[in-house]
Amino acid sequence: MIIRNINLETVCGITSKLPENDKPEIAFAGKSNVGKSSLINALMNRKSYARISATPGKTQTINFYNINEEMYLVDLPGYGYAKVSEKEKIQWGKLIEKYLHTSKQLRAVFLLIDIRHEPSANDKMMYQWIVDQGYNPIIIATKLDKIKRSQVQKHVKMIKEGLQLVPGTTVIPFSSETKQGRDEIWDLVEREFLN
Ligand code: GDP
Repeated sequence: MIIRNINLETVCGITSKLPENDKPEIAFAGKSNVGKSSLINALMNRKSYARISATPGKTQTINFYNINEEMYLVDLPGYGYAKVSEKEKIQWGKLIEKYLHTSKQLRAVFLLIDIRHEPSANDKMMYQWIVDQGYNPIIIATKLDKIKRSQVQKHVKMIKEGLQLVPGTTVIPFSSETKQGRDEIWDLVEREFLN
């Protein structure tokens, strides 16, 4: 994908009305700190357009990035903050559920998992939940640069088994440091979801 222009067009909180876009949407989910903002920035060829923060507790919004007036990258709020209250967790769930249920343009959901670690209980719940909503998420194994090349296959297997992925599910290792995996993600999106 050649990025000509990007625009953070809509930011939706719990009480906002979701946009009725007329272009394809590709959504990204993952626990906080997994590298979601870094991935979205890499896909947009930007350093810091999408929020990147060292401190958890970011506001819970769904952000819609308009790419070339052609499609949207949709940044779903991260999960797994230790400090979040029960009420906020419920609101988070409702917000995402509302989006997954009502979007007419959502073509694919990518779920980000840190390649270094066994998927957490929250990761497993999120995966299952997305499946239950009728989507078969594509997995992006983030922070690829943090493990040795010789360990990649082993860690991909650990993710596949940990999440009990539906057979045939795509897992793409990605690093926002080296940008490895970026072209593969865009190729997949363009090939499978933009027509
Ligand atoms: P988010 O909370 O999921 O949006 O995560 P961020 O994109 O804000 O990243 C969280 C932290 O992990 C930041 O300190 C990033 O610099 C770091 N990070 C994200 N992706 C990578 C990666 O691919 N490699 C390395 N080494 N660090 C990363």
